[in-house]
Amino acid sequence: MLELSPSDEAPVALGMPAAHETATETASARLSPATLEAMTQWPVYQWTQAEKAAQFNPLVAQLTRWHYQACPAYRQLYDAFVGAPIATASEAEATNAHIATSAAMLDESTHVASTSAASTTTASTSIDSTSSPARFALPVRLFKLHALQSVPDSEVVKTMLSSGTGGAQSRIVLDKTTAALQTKILSRIVTDLIGKDRLPMLVLDCPATVKDRLKFSARTAGVLGFSMYGRQLCYAFHDDMSLNDQAIAEFIERFGQGPVLLFGFTYIVWLHLVLALEQRGQRLALPHGILIHGGGWKKLEHAAVSKDEFKQRLASVTGIRRVHNYYGMVEQTGTIFMECSEGHLHCPVWADIRVRDVLSQQLLSIGETGLLELTSLLPQSYPGHVLLTEDVGRVLGVDDCPCGRHGVYFAVDGRIAHAEVRGCSDSYSR
Ligand SMILES: [Zn+2]
Repeated sequence: MLELSPSDEAPVALGMPAAHETATETASARLSPATLEAMTQWPVYQWTQAEKAAQFNPLVAQLTRWHYQACPAYRQLYDAFVGAPIATASEAEATNAHIATSAAMLDESTHVASTSAASTTTASTSIDSTSSPARFALPVRLFKLHALQSVPDSEVVKTMLSSGTGGAQSRIVLDKTTAALQTKILSRIVTDLIGKDRLPMLVLDCPATVKDRLKFSARTAGVLGFSMYGRQLCYAFHDDMSLNDQAIAEFIERFGQGPVLLFGFTYIVWLHLVLALEQRGQRLALPHGILIHGGGWKKLEHAAVSKDEFKQRLASVTGIRRVHNYYGMVEQTGTIFMECSEGHLHCPVWADIRVRDVLSQQLLSIGETGLLELTSLLPQSYPGHVLLTEDVGRVLGVDDCPCGRHGVYFAVDGRIAHAEVRGCSDSYSR
């Protein structure tokens, strides 16, 4: 069980603080529609980490202020663990006029500014290792235990549930603004990879996954979300997850000569496509296929194979050579981390990743393995913009991936529950 991480800078106040005074709050810290619209236009990977920080950090700080103001449970946690309340009203007004200036009052943009003034080389080739209350991280597990929201029920348009491998499911509420942002940003990330033209799409799942809206899961969300980038959708499996040979044959007959998009969850692609084809000694001809897969191995971690083995065996039964894993979580839908041609996961401009020591929760440097802390600018309706995950990984580098993308790139090594076997086995790497 994880514990909340106190700020490295502030003393920890134990026990709950007195009720926060809200009567004098007149201005909302909520990000304005104009700010959000401008944000959706940012280049996906072009900015260096330092260029990005100048835009990104002030908005993180403002989101923290907004959720502090709008979500009483978040406010209680913040006060208890950061050790001091945020002054909201006057800063919020100032922020709307002078975002960068007011945000510097409580976040790392001050550090970034001073660091880059001293040495731009250092700033652009290292990760931000400063702890600040603006990135007060909630353990992702908290969303499985509590309903946390920053908008009234009347503004909730959709509720998302995590896939719930450990029993309890996260419950994430979306308002119109957050739902629209998720769709827009996911689209920017995916079209950056596959282009703007919709490709014929083979969905590596069964029709029942999207038909049963009562069981709206991460799988449903993934299939529905990625289906927007395809046309002439074809489901590769029957509802019992056996291969739909006739549908697949017809799809390949019509579209197999050109580029096609395939999407599925990692363990499903492996189990129901790769292993099923291998067992039957069957091969598909999809030499121009582009596979996007994500979601990890779930309960099948014992059966997981390395990234390279996955790609090699997939290629030998389907001919597919362009394979992109992505990492992301339902609690931060939209800002996914896509794998590049070098096999590295990349932060899009709307998200950031940092690594913390499993025990001390200190921020770690490039190459050091620890818990992944994810920051996303998309969550407006719930305080999930900074989350400490239970996934273990490491930052591989900043601004210098051979693929040409800027920003942080990283690897995910597994889940914390398996951290103890990391030394003797890499068989569950994603
Ligand atoms: Zn790359």
